[in-house]
Amino acid sequence: MIWNVSDVLILSPHTDDMELGAGGTVRLLVQSGARVKSVVLSDCRKSVDTTKYPEDILRKECLAAAKHLGIDDLTILSFPVRELPEHRQEILETLYGIRKDREFDLVITSWWGDTHQDHRTLAEETQRAFMRTSSTVLSYAIPGSCSDFVPNVFVPLTEDDVKKKIEMLRLYESQVAKRDYFQTDAIRAFLTYQGIHVGRPYAEAFAQHRTVVKGFSAGGIPGRPRSR
Ligand SMILES: [Zn+2]
Repeated sequence: MIWNVSDVLILSPHTDDMELGAGGTVRLLVQSGARVKSVVLSDCRKSVDTTKYPEDILRKECLAAAKHLGIDDLTILSFPVRELPEHRQEILETLYGIRKDREFDLVITSWWGDTHQDHRTLAEETQRAFMRTSSTVLSYAIPGSCSDFVPNVFVPLTEDDVKKKIEMLRLYESQVAKRDYFQTDAIRAFLTYQGIHVGRPYAEAFAQHRTVVKGFSAGGIPGRPRSR
């Protein structure tokens, strides 16, 4: 089966989340020619150590990472970090606005079992916003807050994909300096572990919220007689 998606929405609670959880897959989607829209709910300016960095450092790093991934449709919103549950309804309405004029084949978002309240809020509002649509919805795990994550969708990655993911994550210089899960060994270990599940050197893994199968053709499967 070919993962035939042409319109993709990538959602991230904070700058850097989708890059950590799904950056390799997002690059493959962009390379496949899919139209990829990326939306980040919070620029996390309240998390920045302003004695060391400008307040908008994470916004700048996120823009650089998007460029590295080949994403040219990126929106970074300014919901306050750590307070997304209080803004649940506004987030839902934002998502309704995004889906109003465009049908997405695939939506990739944070995971509903994530222990971080912001990550969980986005996951829940994504599920609400994309009910009664024909979008497949998958969730990614963010290292450190998803210890119970049980994936059931895997995207194998090559050594080159992994190198590019590490290169892209290193653009988050302010995070590489202080986060253990931004270290090269940790990134490789995470991808290697998921790859074991599918017999490949590396993979990114997702939990399936819902899958909508589209695009069956009347011709059936090439090379196989049609059953009657
Ligand atoms: Zn986050």
